[in-house]
Amino acid sequence: MDLVERDKKVIWHPYTQMKTAALPVPIVKGEGAYLFAEDGTRYIDAVSSWWTNIHGHAHPHIAQKVAEQLKQLEHVIFAGFTHPTAVELAERLLAILPGNQQKVFYSDNGSTAVEVAIKMCLQYWHNQGQQRTKILAFNNAYHGDTFGAMAVSGRSAFTAAFDSLLFEVEFIDLPDAENIQSLKSRISNLKSQLACFIFEPLVQGSAGMLMYEARYLNELMAHCKAEGVLTIDDEVFTGFGRTGKPFACNHVTEQPDIMCFSKGLTGGTMALGITTCTQTVFDAFLSDDKLKTLFHGHSFTANPIACSAALASMDIFLKDATIQNINRIVEQHAEFAYRVKVHPKLKSVRQTGTILAMEWDTGSNTSYFSSLRDTLYQYFLKAGIILRPLGNVIYILPPYCISNEDLHYIYGKIEEALIEIGD
Ligand SMILES: *Cc1c(COP(=O)(O)O)cnc(C)c1O
Repeated sequence: MDLVERDKKVIWHPYTQMKTAALPVPIVKGEGAYLFAEDGTRYIDAVSSWWTNIHGHAHPHIAQKVAEQLKQLEHVIFAGFTHPTAVELAERLLAILPGNQQKVFYSDNGSTAVEVAIKMCLQYWHNQGQQRTKILAFNNAYHGDTFGAMAVSGRSAFTAAFDSLLFEVEFIDLPDAENIQSLKSRISNLKSQLACFIFEPLVQGSAGMLMYEARYLNELMAHCKAEGVLTIDDEVFTGFGRTGKPFACNHVTEQPDIMCFSKGLTGGTMALGITTCTQTVFDAFLSDDKLKTLFHGHSFTANPIACSAALASMDIFLKDATIQNINRIVEQHAEFAYRVKVHPKLKSVRQTGTILAMEWDTGSNTSYFSSLRDTLYQYFLKAGIILRPLGNVIYILPPYCISNEDLHYIYGKIEEALIEIGD
C-alpha cells in the first residue's frame, strides 16, 4: 500500500472535508524553499507551510542545534524547574521586542499563546477586584481554533457550529481615515467594561490577507492606553520578519501590553507558543493570596527541544544575510505588484512586507467563486508551486531563503493563470 492509501485509512486532516477533498500530496523531504514528494516531484513552498517556515526546510543549523539538545535534555517539568534553553530564549526574545515587554510565558502553539494572553488580561482586572470582562476584537479576526481564541475571532462558517457557546465579544471594523474617530468613541463608551483589545497587527491573515495602515493601529493602541484598556498584539503570523520589520509592532510607536508568538518562532520546525507581557501585567498576579496565581500550563510548557529550535532560528533570523533576503523579497513583490495591479481580473493587489496578496474579481458569480479556489490551487500545484488560496485571494509568503529565480517563476505562473483561468 502506498502512503496516500495508508493515509486514507487512518488520518483525519485539518480543515478538510474528508468526503470530497483531493488526495493529499505525500511529502518525504524538504530542503530550502522546496518540498519533495514521494515520486520525486519538487514543489516550491510559496506559503511557508502554513506561514510557519521562515528559513527554509530542514535547515542544517536548526537540525544540528535540535540534535544536540535531544542528547542533552529532551524535556523537564517547567513548574518548580527551569532549564538553560528556556531562559536563554526568553532573554534573547525580550532583547528584540519593544522595551516594555518583560516576562515570557511558554505554551504550545498560536492558539494557546492567545488563550494565555486572554486569561492574563481577564485575571489582571479580576485580581484587582474590577469587573472588566469584555474583549474588543476586529471583525474577521483570526486568533486560533481553541474556544477562547475562537471566541475572539470573527464569526464565520468556521465557527458556526459553536457560535452559541462562544463568549460575547465587541467587534469593530478595521480602522481607516473615515471610521477612526467613531471607533475611538466606541472604545471610550465601553471602557469601564473592556478588559482588553486583541488584534492582528497590519494584516489579517486568515481573513484573506486584509491589510490596514499602521498609523490607525497606532491611534487605536494609543487610545486604548489612554482609556486603560490592555492591548494584545497577536504576532503569531506577523512576527519574525513577515511584515518586512522584525515584528509588525515595529511599524508603530505605541507598545502593546501583551504579545503572542508562534508560527515563525521555531523557524517552522516545531510547535511552540510564547506570550510576553509588561511588568505591570505580571505584577498584578504577585500576591500572598494563592488565588491570584495564573493557573495555566501545559505538559510540554517550554519544551527544551522546541526552545532550542527557536534559539537556532533566532541565530539565523538576526544574520545580515536574512535581513537582506527579507528586503529582497519585499522589493521583488513590490515590482510584481506594480505590474499586475491594473490587471482587469484582479480586484485588489496588496502587500505588507514579504506578504503579497491578489484578490481575484469574481463578479457576482458566487458558484464560480467557490470552485475558483480549487481550480487555482490545482493549477499551481501542477506547476510545482504550493499556493493555498483563501477563497478568491491568492497570496505568496515564501521562506526568506527563496531565490529570485523561484519568485519570478511563481509570478510568471500567476500571470499565466490570469490569462488562462476564469473567462
Ligand atoms: C495561525 C494563527 C493563530 C493560531 O496559531 P496555531 O498555532 O495555528 O494555533 C493565532 N493567531 C494568528 C494571527 C494566526 O495567524
